[in-house]
Amino acid sequence: MITEKTYINALSIEQAHSEAEKCTTGFRYIAGGTDVIVNKFQGNDNADCLIDLSEISELKQVVTKENNIEIGALVRLDDLKNYKVITDNFPSLLEAANSVASPVIRKTATIGGNLLCENRCVFYNQSEWWRESAGHCLKCNGNVCIASGGNKNCFAKFVSDTAVVLISMSASIEVFDNNTISIIPIEEIYSGDGITPLKLSKTAIVNSIHIPLNNEYKSVFKKLRQRETLEFSSMSTAVTIDKTGKLKIVLGAVHAKPIIFNGNVADDFNEILNAIISNTRIVENDVYSRSYRKEMITVFLQRSFKELSLLK
Ligand SMILES: Cc1cc2nc3c(=O)[nH]c(=O)nc-3n(C[C@H](O)[C@H](O)[C@H](O)COP(=O)(O)OP(=O)(O)OC[C@H]3O[C@@H](n4cnc5c(N)ncnc54)[C@H](O)[C@@H]3O)c2cc1C
Repeated sequence: MITEKTYINALSIEQAHSEAEKCTTGFRYIAGGTDVIVNKFQGNDNADCLIDLSEISELKQVVTKENNIEIGALVRLDDLKNYKVITDNFPSLLEAANSVASPVIRKTATIGGNLLCENRCVFYNQSEWWRESAGHCLKCNGNVCIASGGNKNCFAKFVSDTAVVLISMSASIEVFDNNTISIIPIEEIYSGDGITPLKLSKTAIVNSIHIPLNNEYKSVFKKLRQRETLEFSSMSTAVTIDKTGKLKIVLGAVHAKPIIFNGNVADDFNEILNAIISNTRIVENDVYSRSYRKEMITVFLQRSFKELSLLK
């Protein structure tokens, strides 16, 4: 059921922000709407006011600077392939973007919206009547996390596919809030709490995504899912090395925030694996079992290391 009472088409970042400050009974920015509207239909988002950012042209540009590339938050996932600087330097970002949802959805979905899409759980992403009959979980005002068997923390999983790759490349976002622009590493915006997964203030607007350009990244992205299309991640990995031998591994969909490992190409693979697996907190909140998702971490990392010639 769609419940908003007000829909505002913002024409500038400043206007969107000032409208947000006026919406005292709750608002949500909307870009492509492919996450927001589904959550609204399922009764999981009851914001009174929707502030549409999609007509703000300055958020749709891709700019190449000396040391980085700046991708506007409203650039659609399907359009990323049209920029040579992206196809030449960041093929794994394209792969992650192309793994999101389906071709039709990617023509509407934006990269900014993808970074900020809502965490998911099989006990949460259901219709209202389903959730009522199964019992409400922590994320929908219940008392306990059903997926973890009664825990008082919410483990709804972080699912953004592009974020996994972008974090592995140490990308940042440019954020506008309260008349100030800040640059924040993407890995710092996720809280680890499935109920409130973002640390950004509610009124913050993501202007653009900044990826360092001259690090000669080599990167492999992998995604576990039931079908090749329309499926969110059951588990995802991005392994990236740079020209200095720095290694960064990021796991998605195994916890309420990305799991990050920083190392070096000379590090021992088994030690890396142990460090990563001891940090993951997978619960039974997906169509695939916890143990299968955990096993696939090793499989994906082995394959990625081989593709990067880090393992024989
Ligand atoms: C069937 C289906 C399958 C899907 N599969 C996947 C998948 O495989 N992987 C995946 O990652 N996602 C998936 N999605 C979710 C969604 O389509 C994507 O995450 C998409 O990229 C979201 O972008 P959007 O522009 O539509 O975001 P919106 O729905 O418009 O917004 C998402 C969130 O971001 C906020 N937001 C958007 N832009 C800004 C901004 N510039 N500043 C501040 N806040 C902003 C909104 O307020 C909202 O909270 C799927 C969705 C559907 C319906």
